[in-house]
This record gives sequence, C-alpha cells and structure tokens, in this order.
Amino acid sequence: MLEIQNLSKSYGKNLAVDQVNFTVPDGMVGILLGPNGAGKSTIIKSIAGLLRYKGGIGIQGMSSKTLEAKKLFAYVPEIPAMFEALTVKEHIEFVRKAYQSTITDAELQALLKRFEMEDKQDKLGNELSKGMMQKVSILCALAIKPKVILLDEPMVGLDPKAIKELKEVVVELRDQGTTILISTHMLEMVEGIWDVMFVMEKGKIIGSYTKEQVGDKDLDELFFEMTGGERS
Ligand code: ADP
Ligand code: MG
Repeated sequence: MLEIQNLSKSYGKNLAVDQVNFTVPDGMVGILLGPNGAGKSTIIKSIAGLLRYKGGIGIQGMSSKTLEAKKLFAYVPEIPAMFEALTVKEHIEFVRKAYQSTITDAELQALLKRFEMEDKQDKLGNELSKGMMQKVSILCALAIKPKVILLDEPMVGLDPKAIKELKEVVVELRDQGTTILISTHMLEMVEGIWDVMFVMEKGKIIGSYTKEQVGDKDLDELFFEMTGGERS
C-alpha cells in the first residue's frame, strides 16, 4: 500500500505539488494523470526519496524514508540513467544483488525475452538506444520483485511490442498483490489496466476515480470537463 499525506513541494517560489493526498491499496494500479508540468514526476521523485518535501509518504505502513520501506519499492524514472561501463546483464545483476532479490535465472531470462533484450545482454549502457535504456530500467525494477513499483511515464519511447508487454506485466504484478503507481499524460496508455485514477492539474488533484465509479462513462470526456478542455 502506498499512502501520500499532505504532500507539498516547492522549487524556489514555484509550488509544484500542493497538499496532495491519495492512497493506492495493495494489488491495485493507481494512475497519476495530467498534462506536462502538473507535478506528476515531482510526486514520484518525492516517493522515491530523491527530493525534499513537506508531508508524509507511507509504504506498506512504514515511512518511505526507512530502509525497510526502501527495500520494498522500485522506481522507473522518466529519463533512464545508465552506468556507461556496465552491460545490460551487469545492470540487472547489480540490482539483483543489492536488493538480495529472490528472482530466479529462469524468471529473468523470461523477462529479457518478453522485452526483446535477450540478444542485448552484453551491450554497454552507452551503446543502447533510448528505448533500450528504458527497457533496462524496467527490467531492473522488475528484478527486485518489488511490493510497490513507481513508473514515471513508462510507455514514452517504447515500441508497441514493449508497451503491450509492459501492460501485461503490470496486470500480472497487480494480480500478485503488488501496488503500482503509473504517471502518464496520455490516458490511452493505461486504458484497461487501472483501478484508481488521480487527475492532476497545476500541482493539485482535481478528481479521483475508481474503475467502478467510472463504469462505462467515457474517461476522455470526464477529463475534458475537469480541465476545461485543455490537454497536452
Ligand atoms: P509533470 O511530471 O507532471 O510533467 P513535474 O513534476 O516535472 O510535472 O513539474 C511540475 C512543476 O515543477 C513544473 O512547473 C516544472 O517546471 C517544475 N519543476 C520540475 N522539476 C523542477 C526542478 N528540478 N527545478 C525547478 N522546477 C522544477
Ligand atoms: Mg513528468
């Protein structure tokens, strides 16, 4: 479970996130939806412990700042960061060892295959395309076998096959009880895989929905109504 309480973050005079509250229960996919600049990445970076912020963040009932909590979550940043001198395989091994992950070789091989990275395992970090870096970043996060996973605009830069696999992996993780938070500015990217959605604008959550509440209603229309038709 992921709990965000009264989260605020300013960059200088710019209030990027303003008193945000939300919860994503175990085994659910939560979506942060909003245009560029809404504050999505700032929230995710705060959860990941990369920013100073005001408010509280709980992971499985523990403060996100504790080592115990940090062991349980994985973070896929908006812009992948690679170690230039490590191969794809070494990136994954590094994370696997650091987190003392229980993932098996067979499970890892299956993941590499799904994301079409089997034959890229010996490539160095700086020999990869942006999309491949994104895939390594996703594979490293999955290799931890996290209880909570944060994905910041994860579909951007991925090819259609990888987008399809990622969506399937998200649904599988959810069914295993993992808590998932995905940010996106494109609703169609998360269609059919979300359980709770938080619509953001200018640092605030302007609407929260569960899948049941929305039912057959057209989310695109709801989104347009809320944001006055402005979308990026
Ligand atoms: P989103 O991920 O929804 O596109 P961000 O969280 O990246 O939004 O940005 C929210 C606001 O904070 C924007 O106004 C952005 O310009 C500002 N911002 C983000 N990161 C920084 C930073 N490192 N320094 C200063 N301002 C920032
Ligand atoms: Mg962002």
